Amino acid sequence: MIELDERIITQAILDRFYEKLKANLDVEVAIVGCGPSGMVAGALLAEAGKRVVLFERKLSVGGGMWGGGMLFNEIVVQESAVPLLQRFGIRYRSYREGYYTADAVEAVASLAKAAVQAGAAIFNAVTVEDVVMRPERIIGLVINWTAVEMAGLHVDPLAIRARFVVDATGHETEVVKVVAKKVPGQLNTPSGQIEGEKSMWSDRAETLTLENTREVFPGLYVAGMAANATFGGPRMGAIFGGMLLSGEKVAQELLRRLLEAADAGA
Ligand SMILES: Cc1cc2nc3c(=O)[nH]c(=O)nc-3n(C[C@H](O)[C@H](O)[C@H](O)COP(=O)(O)OP(=O)(O)OC[C@H]3O[C@@H](n4cnc5c(N)ncnc54)[C@H](O)[C@@H]3O)c2cc1C
Repeated sequence: MIELDERIITQAILDRFYEKLKANLDVEVAIVGCGPSGMVAGALLAEAGKRVVLFERKLSVGGGMWGGGMLFNEIVVQESAVPLLQRFGIRYRSYREGYYTADAVEAVASLAKAAVQAGAAIFNAVTVEDVVMRPERIIGLVINWTAVEMAGLHVDPLAIRARFVVDATGHETEVVKVVAKKVPGQLNTPSGQIEGEKSMWSDRAETLTLENTREVFPGLYVAGMAANATFGGPRMGAIFGGMLLSGEKVAQELLRRLLEAADAGA
């Protein structure tokens, strides 16, 4: 047995982290937020062989899924999203016709494992504070340590490039807010601005979440609750199928766009 050397432990962490960070400075898709929609999108894009990076402000991934509803850590999923539970190996039980339940912790852990093992890189404790823009298109993200943000330190951020960005930041829709401020009235929404989330209506919200999962500004897509907040859909209560399906839809859309770009030789 070798004698463990603290310097080598430190060196290993630094080398491996910088290797990971440097490999993700120019990606095909950058996803902001590791809630259910972001992680599903990340996992599916990485499974399809795309270079994907996810940034999560908190130390833990999972967003609002850990707590199920009101901290009761079970999630409810409707029939249409059951194939995604199966795909990611999340065990579930039928509750009654059309309603399924799964353990919230197992769901988060399974999605995170799927994303990372498929090749997506997740950077936790990193906050996206701005976008990189050429006037007509989003081409990257501006990032900083969450600890810097929390401490209110006056520290310049760094930036990465991405062909496409996904705002999966949940109710706060943080990336779209930044863009809306910079180019007022130019979002691809009815008013050109963020429409704002409407009151709870579970059934309608689940359908609208999917319709609202789309490009809101050139290079910028919205998924999950951020899609509803951007396009004015209702919130849906503690049912998570729409979040999973929204992640799947944005991944499919981006695979199509990346293929088109490759065909066009871009
Ligand atoms: C106040 C509140 C109300 C809720 N109401 C509903 C509801 O009506 N219906 C419902 O289904 N669920 C609700 N939820 C639960 C939950 O938010 C969602 O169901 C579900 O988790 C949303 O999934 P998502 O993928 O859209 O994003 P979320 O699970 O919200 O995850 C978003 C992630 O993005 C991260 N993030 C945000 N901004 C940044 C940034 N700038 N940089 C990096 N990371 C960032 C967050 O830390 C978070 O982990 C609510 C949660 C809260 C806190």
